[in-house]
Amino acid sequence: MSDTLNRTALVYAECADGKLRRVALEALGAARRLAGDGAVHAVLAGSGPAAALAEAAAELAARGAGVVHVIDDPALARFAPEAFAAAIGAAAAAVQPSIIVLGHTAAGRELAPRVAAALHGGHVADVTAIEITDGGGDAIFTRPLYAGKAFERLRFLPGAPWIVTVRPNNLPVAEPVPSGSEGTISALPYTAPALWTTVRSIVGKASGRADLAEADIIVAGGRGVRSAEGFAPLEALAQVLGGAVGASRGACDAGYCDYALQIGQTGKTVTPKLYIACGISGAIQHLAGMSQSRVIVAINKDPDAPIFGVADYGIVGDLFEVVPRLTEQFQRI
Ligand code: FAD
Repeated sequence: MSDTLNRTALVYAECADGKLRRVALEALGAARRLAGDGAVHAVLAGSGPAAALAEAAAELAARGAGVVHVIDDPALARFAPEAFAAAIGAAAAAVQPSIIVLGHTAAGRELAPRVAAALHGGHVADVTAIEITDGGGDAIFTRPLYAGKAFERLRFLPGAPWIVTVRPNNLPVAEPVPSGSEGTISALPYTAPALWTTVRSIVGKASGRADLAEADIIVAGGRGVRSAEGFAPLEALAQVLGGAVGASRGACDAGYCDYALQIGQTGKTVTPKLYIACGISGAIQHLAGMSQSRVIVAINKDPDAPIFGVADYGIVGDLFEVVPRLTEQFQRI
């Protein structure tokens, strides 16, 4: 094994609504560490306003992607796994990477195993930490298991390409490179494969809220909020803090909010800097999705609620009294 990592890395630069997702820059940061002195490439796939792709490509080039391969094709206008996996495949054929890094998002989770199978590579999903070892010659990937109760540390055997997905909000974003050393941007030829599925239309909810998976601050409500209207104080607190609103499955099942807000084993996995759990008991399935948050504040009127077991700060009290008071205090800052 070589003394330093000297590998070619490829990043799948995922976009949402024409903009780079933050996890794409976290993946780029990981790829730069993993490549060591090797080359770092990024693939940007989409179709739409050329200006949006150009802006995203420029940001990647300014943050250390040596070459940004842009694939602009009508087949990539909407997410279709076969089309996007083929786009990554086209970039992989051009670059011959030994490492491919994607965000552990809904799209990344769909694409990474397809790419790994196509390239006969190994796959490590949901990585939360990367340790460069062996004097820079190897890397160990950490991923949570059993709803965050255990951690698995894995390394790849030499040979096959490494396909890695990184959990949003866990790894630092790639820092900008000095002016003058930005990467280049080039168009990559691409032939869309036959698609097994067609997206006819997307019915989205215009929530205007921050994306839960990438939010730095989350105010989450459980069955303790008692109604859809009960979420109003949580919304107000989230707004003052510039955060997003999430929920337990208990709150979703009760019809207080949309399932898109559900956090936990069968919902979203989040790792914000601050997680404020309001009226959430702390069932193991909920903890699975939020226990890795950096600071957890729990507000619950039951002092024995299990959520206090993972909380850094606990407030025993009625959320309808505590949350508005917190909002009031934060408004003054
Ligand atoms: P409860 O357990 O009913 O807790 C409500 C809490 O609110 C209580 O602790 C109570 O003391 C407190 N409270 C009430 N009123 C107030 C007040 N005024 N002020 C302050 N506190 C108050 N759950 C998830 O969250 N996410 C998942 O992804 C998920 N996946 C699951 C998958 C499976 C296979 C199964 C079996 C379950 C799953 N669940 C999941 C459900 C989970 O087991 C719990 O039922 C659920 O998390 C409970 O939600 P809750 O904490 O909001 O409700």
